[in-house]
Amino acid sequence: MRARTVKVTPLRQNCTVLENPETGRAVVFDPGGDVPELLQVLEGLTVDAILLTHGHFDHAGGADALREGLARRQNAPVALIGPDKRDDFLLRSIVEQAQAFGLYDLQDAHPDRFVEDGETIALPGLTLEVAHCPGHTPGHVVFISRDDKLAIVGDTLFRGVVGRSDFAYGDHQALITGIKRSLLSLPDDFIVLPGHGLPTMIGEERQNNPFLI
Ligand SMILES: [Zn+2]
Repeated sequence: MRARTVKVTPLRQNCTVLENPETGRAVVFDPGGDVPELLQVLEGLTVDAILLTHGHFDHAGGADALREGLARRQNAPVALIGPDKRDDFLLRSIVEQAQAFGLYDLQDAHPDRFVEDGETIALPGLTLEVAHCPGHTPGHVVFISRDDKLAIVGDTLFRGVVGRSDFAYGDHQALITGIKRSLLSLPDDFIVLPGHGLPTMIGEERQNNPFLI
């Protein structure tokens, strides 16, 4: 699969598209907003699913609208697969979260289903492992493709830092424990695709990330 990143919302969230250039099939992670632009980028591809790492507005605020737009274009339902259900309260307060940032074009997200720790999601040409990695939000998950040697990690791990946990529902210790369990257990050569900023590698973070030493 080939990974492509589209920056969405004024927070420049990395909406990741994994596409198979041979089959034209794709999966979209964290469509936080800018749905018309995303629909343009996805033109010509068949999207099999939309997946969410967690319930923050900049990751999930465009999910319902993208599902609707794709379903119309593809003439078939497109699955919106949520994070762990412990983030449902956030998915249902996206309009409120976004308004606090002066954004009025995002929507609450209503996944077709939630995922659980240890689950495997089988999509055409793509197998994803799910790991619950709480601390930034209670229901945050990361998606791992062993075949493609990559992890889509939302706001858990970034190049040289870790995600914020200074929310009422945040938990720094849980975040560090979760990253060590779910991500640092992967081989050094796995690519990490975070929700903001540049990609990194597991080995790089294992060696140099001051929060994980
Ligand atoms: Zn977040």
